[in-house]
Amino acid sequence: MTERIGTTCVQGGYRPGDAQPRQIPIYQSTTWKYNTSEHMGKLFDLEESGYFYTRLQNPTNDYVAAKICELEGGTAAMLTSSGQAANFYAMFNIAGCGDHIVASSAIYGGTYNLLAVTMKRMGIESTFVSPDCTPEELDAAFRPNTKAVFGETIANPALAVLDIEKFAAAAHAHGVPLIVDNTFPTPVNCRPFEWGADIVTHSTTKYMDGHGAGVGGCIVDSGKFDWMAHADKFPGLTTPDESYHGVTYAERFGNEGAFITKATAQLMRDFGSIQSPQNAFLLNMGLESLHVRMTQHCKNGQAVAEFLHEHPKVAWVRFPGLEDDAYHALAQKYLPEGGCGVVSFGVAGGRPAAEKFMAALKLAQIATHVADARTCCLHPASSTHRQMNDDELAAAGISADLVRMSCGIESTEDLIADIAQALETV
Ligand SMILES: *Cc1c(COP(=O)(O)O)cnc(C)c1O
Repeated sequence: MTERIGTTCVQGGYRPGDAQPRQIPIYQSTTWKYNTSEHMGKLFDLEESGYFYTRLQNPTNDYVAAKICELEGGTAAMLTSSGQAANFYAMFNIAGCGDHIVASSAIYGGTYNLLAVTMKRMGIESTFVSPDCTPEELDAAFRPNTKAVFGETIANPALAVLDIEKFAAAAHAHGVPLIVDNTFPTPVNCRPFEWGADIVTHSTTKYMDGHGAGVGGCIVDSGKFDWMAHADKFPGLTTPDESYHGVTYAERFGNEGAFITKATAQLMRDFGSIQSPQNAFLLNMGLESLHVRMTQHCKNGQAVAEFLHEHPKVAWVRFPGLEDDAYHALAQKYLPEGGCGVVSFGVAGGRPAAEKFMAALKLAQIATHVADARTCCLHPASSTHRQMNDDELAAAGISADLVRMSCGIESTEDLIADIAQALETV
């Protein structure tokens, strides 16, 4: 029997045996004890699987990673301390100094900085392409040293929908994997592996946790990318790792396990961005209701977007679920059940009008966070981007009137009533 996605949300990952705890145990232990040094040595040599130190792996985390792996339809997965760590590990696992990455320009600001500033300082260059580029423009962005292509299924905050098949075709034509950050739709609404993506990342901080309780991330491998077929491009996976007892990851662990094993054995060992088992437990609580919550987030997002679309005090609305939205056709293809609950719009009257609107909201709370059970909203021009004037904002792709509303799972009518009364004050 093939399980539906909702069943995996509730029961995936941890399947207790007879007389085992029903809920995932929290392994609140930094270390594991062994009877012999020889046994522990086998773990260090990756000859046997097992746990020895929580900086690298912890069973609680692995149960939760296994659930997300099942949800995405992957072969291996790991949790990280944040979405930022997940994206950094996913790219740094296969790109090093002297290498190059092709990325969609419509991505989360933190990821843009990671690529354009911090990874550049490490000697990894990036070329940013519009998600709407032609296949020829995309092709032209590649260099002989390109090691990966990166994009977001639904971009935060631009709400551009990635044409995953177009990006996967270009990546594969150049012998490199496509990494997709699937944070906004979650696997409930889109499974990028089904469209050709090779690696998926998440900020679990968002819908997966869903309650604003714990920062976290996840990397999932589809197991489909053939590292050995492109051995010269990915020596870290296809030649012996002298820092890890000479193991060749792609040989020992195959396409199904090489990527995650290397990221665990090397990057977790050296950078240690592990999620705490406590947070992994909280994340699993969120995952148990993910499918139920996503339905209501999407319903509220659609209703709010349609209400704003008809409102005389609203200058414009961006939401892929609207028929006249630039990404509606891609949303129908990749997100037929809905995308997410985030809506961007402009309050007529610019910056002062948007500030007045924000101040008048009662239910929707002002927060930099998105994808929370509680509706939250942000006016970048008067908060996160307040040091910029209107021209500088426009150059950054953010208008002074822009409000980002992350619709929660409250009753739809109450959300609309709150927005309606706040717009009346403008
Ligand atoms: C928030 C976010 C991130 C970063 O995740 P953190 O958990 O905050 O580190 C990465 N990608 C997307 C799409 C995000 O929304």
